[in-house]
Amino acid sequence: MTCSKCRSVELKNVEYAGLKYCKRHFIELITKRIRKDLRAREEITLDKTYYLLKENTPEFILTKYFLERIFGKYLKLTEVNTIKTKNMIIATNLDMETKQFLESYFTNTKYVEKHIRPLRTVTKEEIEKLCEILNIKGKPKKGLEFLEKIDNKYPGSKFSVLRSINHLKK
Ligand SMILES: [Zn+2]
Repeated sequence: MTCSKCRSVELKNVEYAGLKYCKRHFIELITKRIRKDLRAREEITLDKTYYLLKENTPEFILTKYFLERIFGKYLKLTEVNTIKTKNMIIATNLDMETKQFLESYFTNTKYVEKHIRPLRTVTKEEIEKLCEILNIKGKPKKGLEFLEKIDNKYPGSKFSVLRSINHLKK
């Protein structure tokens, strides 16, 4: 099989709605998803300076990578070692987001979304694939084990939880 968009070699275990993706088109797919989410949430504008919390994780490297792909050199981004109160960007993934959300749900505590998290729509499996393509070392952050099992049985479950989180925000 080849990429459904350009006939290049397809990536193994990557398929969305029956479509296959090559490296280039997979990165494009993830970029578009992140851009769409950031736009919908209106969290980043080019007239402000943003702070990215330094971390030794693939999510940190990928957050920088995608922000540069989306905004180019126009985004004013500074790496910091401590959390700032405003315009703070955090490295995350969808598994982490669903974990925080479900834990607050089960413990009956208020779910509060803090800071800007550009990779909130990207699963840890997608992070793994991106690491492979872009030659990034390290393991993605893990979410809840039971949700992983549910997602294996019913693919897309993580995205369903994300839709609930997005709903909550409105
Ligand atoms: Zn392609």
